[in-house]
Amino acid sequence: MDREHRFEEERSRMVETQLLPRGITDESVLLAMKKVPRHRFVPADLMEFAYEDRPLPIGEGQTISQPYIVALMTQCLELKEDESVLEIGSGSGYQTAILAELARQVYTVERIEELRNRSSEILNTLGYVNVNLKAGDGSEGWPEFAPYDGIMVTAGSPEIPEVLAEQVNEGGRLVIPVGGYYSQELAVMHKIHGNLERKNVCGCVFVPLIGKYGWERGK
Ligand code: SAH
Repeated sequence: MDREHRFEEERSRMVETQLLPRGITDESVLLAMKKVPRHRFVPADLMEFAYEDRPLPIGEGQTISQPYIVALMTQCLELKEDESVLEIGSGSGYQTAILAELARQVYTVERIEELRNRSSEILNTLGYVNVNLKAGDGSEGWPEFAPYDGIMVTAGSPEIPEVLAEQVNEGGRLVIPVGGYYSQELAVMHKIHGNLERKNVCGCVFVPLIGKYGWERGK
């Protein structure tokens, strides 16, 4: 069996053993997770672990989230195909690709230039034309293209940045890990009549959101 075929099988198994039994039921999310080649977004020497049930290092002290967390956060965003979405913390670009499968336009901000360049290259190679990347501080959002139907923050924040809340459309969703430096709660907010209504989904562990409306610097 060739390598790509083997990875495809591992990906199907990932969906069946890690996602379905834990309550990922959104068909479009499951299809995207089955389709996007996660192994292309991890460092070459870690490719064989790409479909395991855990996060992996991607360099620069950052990580690609566990597949289940990617699927869960995406399901919580409830994206429709004609919607626009902003991601803060592009990292490897894997979550970006999942969003690009589901939404009309994806905007994504990454503070580390090297990671931005790497993810841009792989997303181009895979043919994602509906992705716009920027290097910079995403804790301020990306006001030029706001409002967004969904905003996903993939780094842990001490609180919910007001500027991000402002960039969510009426009826839109904001998914963000909020809490301490080392562990957080995954919060899902719905904007209803101009107010954000919050629901906590689960405990989680993310690298810190570093910036003006996040943490000051790496500890
Ligand atoms: N979604 C990513 C997860 C990457 S980890 C993936 O699928 O691989 C979180 C990322 O957030 C890191 O790459 C980190 O550099 C980035 N980050 C932290 N603070 C940020 C900020 N203020 N603006 C933009 N990106 C930030």
